[in-house]
Amino acid sequence: MLLQDKKLLITGVLKDSSIAFHVARLAQEHGAEVVLTSFGRTMRITQAVSRRLSEPVQIVELDVSNTEQLETLADRVGEHVDHLDGVLHSIGFAPKGAFDFMGAPWEDVSTALQISAYSLKSLTTAALPLMGRGSSVVGLTFDASYAWPVYDWMGVAKAAFESTSRYLARDLGPMGIRSNLVAAGPVSTTAANSIPEFEQFAKWGEHAPLGWDVRDPVPAAKGCIALFSDLFPCTTGEIVHVDGGFHATGF
Ligand code: NAD
Repeated sequence: MLLQDKKLLITGVLKDSSIAFHVARLAQEHGAEVVLTSFGRTMRITQAVSRRLSEPVQIVELDVSNTEQLETLADRVGEHVDHLDGVLHSIGFAPKGAFDFMGAPWEDVSTALQISAYSLKSLTTAALPLMGRGSSVVGLTFDASYAWPVYDWMGVAKAAFESTSRYLARDLGPMGIRSNLVAAGPVSTTAANSIPEFEQFAKWGEHAPLGWDVRDPVPAAKGCIALFSDLFPCTTGEIVHVDGGFHATGF
């Protein structure tokens, strides 16, 4: 029971393929109370998929580009839990045009940066009134050290996301709040499948020393559970690779 009595805010549960769904499921198994966020038309889908969790959950609306929803988030989450021990950022979006590096217009790039990188800061700031010493922010990246095939401006957004986590670690550390990321290998989710030619990553397992199954979101979710737990009390600004070891060897 790594998360006994902890209270977590989990964004990004869209389907049961979502990495966040498995974080929520495992968090409950480890004794946590979970509140989810979703937004707009996806609220209904999140509601349906949340019934597959072992404990009932409350769902609060949050579009990370909506200032009013961000400003009222702590009050609305506070109606269900009196504080938060952890916040999961599991949000990614880039318009189709952002996956054409040389041709992408700024409107598409700026949307990718706002939803996929700046949102780590805006979500954290919005949840901060409920967070205290010992609490933790965890997010999911796709290792931004490389210029991947097809990832394009989403890769640039992930580089900004990783940097944002380090700055959060700097500014939240004195409050006793940690900020860490899991760099997951490719997982076949709604967001991933919207990336043109995502199937290029299907061979990841052939190059990862431990192997890798793109249909399995559980290893990445387990990494998040570990980072939310009290087992990393002095770790912040860190990126833990959960990728079968691919980053250590490459192609
Ligand atoms: P997913 O499609 O299941 O989840 C993406 C989530 O982002 C969805 O729940 C969607 O509703 C949410 N979202 C999009 N725009 C939003 C907005 N404006 N406000 C609030 N929420 C919004 O896909 P996933 O793969 O589970 O993605 C979760 C995270 O994992 C993302 O940050 C993604 O980049 C990261 N990641 C994914 C992979 C992979 O291969 N799937 C690998 C590494 C990292």
